[in-house]
Amino acid sequence: MVTAMNQSITDGEVLFGNDSSIVNLTAHRINPAHHYHDGPPNPTWITIGQFKQVLDAIVDRADVHLTLDDGFASDVEIALPLLLERGLTAEFFVLAGRLGEPGRLDHEGVRQLVSSGMSIGSHGWMHRDWRRLDERQASQELGDARQVLAEITGQPVDAVAVPFGSYDRTVLRRLRQARITRVYTSDGGRARRDSWLQPRTSLRYDLDLAWITRVLDSTPSGKQRLRTAAARLVKRLR
Ligand SMILES: [Zn+2]
Repeated sequence: MVTAMNQSITDGEVLFGNDSSIVNLTAHRINPAHHYHDGPPNPTWITIGQFKQVLDAIVDRADVHLTLDDGFASDVEIALPLLLERGLTAEFFVLAGRLGEPGRLDHEGVRQLVSSGMSIGSHGWMHRDWRRLDERQASQELGDARQVLAEITGQPVDAVAVPFGSYDRTVLRRLRQARITRVYTSDGGRARRDSWLQPRTSLRYDLDLAWITRVLDSTPSGKQRLRTAAARLVKRLR
């Protein structure tokens, strides 16, 4: 167990306070509302004001990589102009099977992101839990989704963000077999820039400047580091 855990750390997937480490952030839907009266319908939905706060905090940070999941229409309508204003880029993980649904991106929206200098990755077909796929679903989630996005963008789509951040050994094996070059999870913590598995931290409805500062600048203690590494190891062995 100890040997395996050491391997997991030296794998280069968990590094902190190192020059080559980065922080991956994930936004989901961005709402025009300024505040929520009874909390948001989903804890990962944030307001425009919160999104701007995050962008302003990362504008000079080469060690922060911003991703947006789920392919909401707010990617193009809200996020894109705010990114461009600040000279920032982001990576958008789109649900291929939901394109064109109300409130979601359509083909034209995806193309607009690409022509504006943004990157497109796959978030699968319809946001299934990738730990519970039969073979037909696996081929739709990992194969078809990527192919559809590649056709729309005219570029290979080789990176994925795992829906719900839910993965296990089988999911990772399928992704390696599919020659996915980068896998984004939701495990939190810093990541090594060149690592295959990239942990991310989700933006939440209750984020404020103190939270942003903590996420961007904290160097976790040795204890936290081991705990995070152990949690990831368990997922990969499961
Ligand atoms: Zn998602």
